[in-house]
Amino acid sequence: MAESIPIVDRARARGDQLALIDDRGSMGYAELLDASARAASRLLDARDDLEGARVAFLTPPGTDYVVAQWGTWRAGGIAVPLCTMHPAPELDYVIGDSGAELIVAHPEYHAVLEPIARARGVRLLSTETLRDAQPRPLPTVPGDRGAMLIYTSGTTGKPKGALTTHATLSAQIRSVVEAWEWREDDRILHVLPLHHLHGILNLLCAAMWSGATCEFLPRFDPERVWERIADSEELTLFMAVPTIYAKLTEAFDRADTERQAAMSAGCKRLRLMVSGSAALPVPTLERWRTISGHTLLERYGMTEIGMGLGNPLHGERRPGHVGVPFPGVDVRLVDDAGSEVADGTSGHIEVRGPGVFDGYWNREEATREVFTDDGWFKTGDVAVREDGVYRILGRQSVDILKTGGYKVSALEIEAVLRTHAAIAECAVVGLADPQWGQRVAAAVVLAPGQQLKLETLRSWGKEQMAHYKVPTLLRVVDALPRNPMGKVQKPAVSELFQG
Ligand code: AMP
Repeated sequence: MAESIPIVDRARARGDQLALIDDRGSMGYAELLDASARAASRLLDARDDLEGARVAFLTPPGTDYVVAQWGTWRAGGIAVPLCTMHPAPELDYVIGDSGAELIVAHPEYHAVLEPIARARGVRLLSTETLRDAQPRPLPTVPGDRGAMLIYTSGTTGKPKGALTTHATLSAQIRSVVEAWEWREDDRILHVLPLHHLHGILNLLCAAMWSGATCEFLPRFDPERVWERIADSEELTLFMAVPTIYAKLTEAFDRADTERQAAMSAGCKRLRLMVSGSAALPVPTLERWRTISGHTLLERYGMTEIGMGLGNPLHGERRPGHVGVPFPGVDVRLVDDAGSEVADGTSGHIEVRGPGVFDGYWNREEATREVFTDDGWFKTGDVAVREDGVYRILGRQSVDILKTGGYKVSALEIEAVLRTHAAIAECAVVGLADPQWGQRVAAAVVLAPGQQLKLETLRSWGKEQMAHYKVPTLLRVVDALPRNPMGKVQKPAVSELFQG
């Protein structure tokens, strides 16, 4: 029993407490320990230790996922969660790039993964065969052993695998657990993808670390989420991305008054609701407050750092702001020359601490580029600190525009445009322009029954903000281009203006 994987070791004290619930059933901690020991034994086959071999796995959200993840860890391997929404070429890319030696797949995904496994000569194991293996001695896994590779696209180029060791991952989990006071009697409703940091760290790992219960839905479905929130007596936590809160708001608006009362009452039974992974528009936050009674706790994090900044659990949560550094995380804002900036001046966010990732898999050059000489991770995001509280201005590359020499935040312009009665949703991008450097361009989704012309938007806009921030190009679209996480894809928004 000398494994020393903290999240696994902690589970031993939990006995039969309920760990996981999914569409197919539930699993207690003792059962999870047994199932993952068997899975590890199957993955080890004749070996004593996978010694950092990558195990790519694809399962629906739920017990199969956690058994594969813990099984990989306990066998000494690095877990590479695949994305259920990816088509074959993207799955193949991750499997190839990570150099996976084994693929674990739920039967639902055999058809897509078998040809990839065959072509690459990689062994494919069914989740069904993992659980009936005979347990055998498991290796001792040191803290500096790789635990997980999460693929993240960054802003350019192909996705890269962000590596965390067990020590790094444990530091990330500890920070989240401390900040939000996770406890044994928490139960979280999980509707996020499990190949992305948000769903893995903030929900699943934090719950398993704490002896809490994680209840999965097979995918995000606003009606089912409302059903659970309205009808469950046990749920205590909900965490999601801003788009999900917007979709839940739409579903709330479709319900009748009696049902709405039950939905609101369900929210009020929760102790905490969190938003992150993208900027939470203030109107979304305010609307959610009237529906749920909760001021969403907005936090800022990144695949490479875990959680970085967050509004407080207790105390004032400032709309449009992302709060202060998480426990154990150092954050600073620097100018282009790397010197720290004063409060009120925008700067690049840099992060340091035990939760910062250990590098991009097989990409030494890319890894070197994102760290300063003295070990700070350069997030590529820009923020300003006001009275010690951080406000994100956007990503250095896409959301910070330069027009006519002025530095402007696309997020700030979007916040203003959203206050226009005709605009339901919007995205602002900077388009290359020989005269201005960049032009401010807005893609908007109109509110029902509304119309909008560029001229009217411009004359209205000039009353709301400095003239150089007012969009000079407008596209009215049916929907904004988003990735599977719901995040607006700025390169695709820029393409809307071509031609
Ligand atoms: P990911 O690694 O996919 O989680 O994306 C991380 C990026 O999402 C960050 O570098 C930010 O650009 C963005 N992000 C995360 N949380 C927030 C937030 N609360 N407000 C604005 N941007 C955010």
